[in-house]
Amino acid sequence: MSDHISSIIDSHCHIVFSNFDEDREKVAERWRSQGVKALLHACVEPSEIPAIKSIADQFEEMRYSVGVHPLDVHHWKEETLDILKKAALDDKRVVAIGELGLDLFKAENLNEQLAVLIPQLKLAFELNLPVIVHCRDAAKEMIEVFSKLAKNDCCPKGVMHCWSGNLKEMREFLNLGFYISFSGNVTFKNAVEIHECAKEVPHNRFLVETDSPFLSPVPHRGKRNEPSFVKHVVKKISELRSQSFSEIAESSTKNARELFGLP
Ligand SMILES: [Zn+2]
Repeated sequence: MSDHISSIIDSHCHIVFSNFDEDREKVAERWRSQGVKALLHACVEPSEIPAIKSIADQFEEMRYSVGVHPLDVHHWKEETLDILKKAALDDKRVVAIGELGLDLFKAENLNEQLAVLIPQLKLAFELNLPVIVHCRDAAKEMIEVFSKLAKNDCCPKGVMHCWSGNLKEMREFLNLGFYISFSGNVTFKNAVEIHECAKEVPHNRFLVETDSPFLSPVPHRGKRNEPSFVKHVVKKISELRSQSFSEIAESSTKNARELFGLP
């Protein structure tokens, strides 16, 4: 097996969380030993930025995003947009705005979420940065938002992170120019719709990620997730598409580099 020599990019992780405080170095040794060549650290609200930045100082293969998650809208203040803009302009390692989006699974405050989402999308377009989109039980609303922006030629490019939608939704996001990122949930036996999407997505339009520490892939389900486990996502997609591990690693790496300009 050539598993461990392929280059892989974990396009979405949160190792700033305190459940990595004890062993972040060890976690990095493991991702390095498994061929993870670059990582994109996602941000859920601005107070995280200094800590994420120092993680990027610690691990040279780390890039990061800045943004406000739809379940963190209470962190949005008058000055937040300026803070995000300054953070993005100050550090070349900021390669995306996010994670941003809509979550109607865990919350119902759609208008509040939109009020935080729209300015971030406009900022991303202005800075020519891609967005990392969290979208849960809100595909219809999200497509509406993107379609409106696309009509005015001001929709940023980006990725639908932790894909959990169906084929019809995937096709719409692809048509709007978005990439699709698969995470641990593609390894779940019952995730039939996600499997269908992984089979159909064009080879030049998908990424892989862990969303560590959440949503560990099989065979680590239920435990803390970490970037080295991204290989299980690659492996599952390779089985679904009847392609080799290295082909999937290669396409997803190439796509992540194209979208985010990663090393
Ligand atoms: Zn995330």
